[in-house]
Amino acid sequence: MDALTCVKKLGYVGVLDFATVDEHGAPQVRNISAIHFEGTDIYFLTARGKYFASQLRRDGRVQILGYTRYKETIRLSGVAEEVPKAEQTHWRDVLYREQPYLENVYPGETKDIDTMFVIRDYTIEYFCLSTRPITREYFAVGNAQITPKGYVIGEACIGCGTCQTVCPQGVITEGSPYHIDPAHCLQCGACAENCPVGAVRRL
Ligand code: SF4
Ligand code: SF4
Repeated sequence: MDALTCVKKLGYVGVLDFATVDEHGAPQVRNISAIHFEGTDIYFLTARGKYFASQLRRDGRVQILGYTRYKETIRLSGVAEEVPKAEQTHWRDVLYREQPYLENVYPGETKDIDTMFVIRDYTIEYFCLSTRPITREYFAVGNAQITPKGYVIGEACIGCGTCQTVCPQGVITEGSPYHIDPAHCLQCGACAENCPVGAVRRL
């Protein structure tokens, strides 16, 4: 897997969940299909008066979630920027050509209320439940930085093996200390809950 393939898969899903944060710090999520993928750049459209647009302008953080028929979750986290005024019409026209239904929503000159945003720097978390063990990968696009997630085993490990017996995916190997393979970990926490000496730490 790689970042561009993940983005293409999101394109095939078509309708994606876009989450933002409102002025009270509460999550806000909606389905968006007015999206144009230009390589790894993600352009999308809303109207200037929408709460969605004001949340993007005020905070910018956005998380996009898509789920494929192959049990793949693709979670993209980044910051959206409003497209510069001089480029707005170009990208809006590209999107309207790809998605003619938009003309029903904003016919003729009423589409002037539209505004385009773009996400260029973001991280992707790819999580696939149809492999055994499951697959988890992270990618960074543009200037984004990956924040490590998951569980690690520290030096306090006494090698009792309890974590291995409770791991649903069998992704813990013996060693000193024992080791979790992050590429196949569910992040369920069973190893941490059952370790007798608290050697398993969540990042
Ligand atoms: S349960 Fe804790 S102490 Fe035992 S092997 Fe696993 S990490 Fe090490
Ligand atoms: S978090 Fe769950 S899947 Fe991951 S190593 Fe621990 S028990 Fe296994």
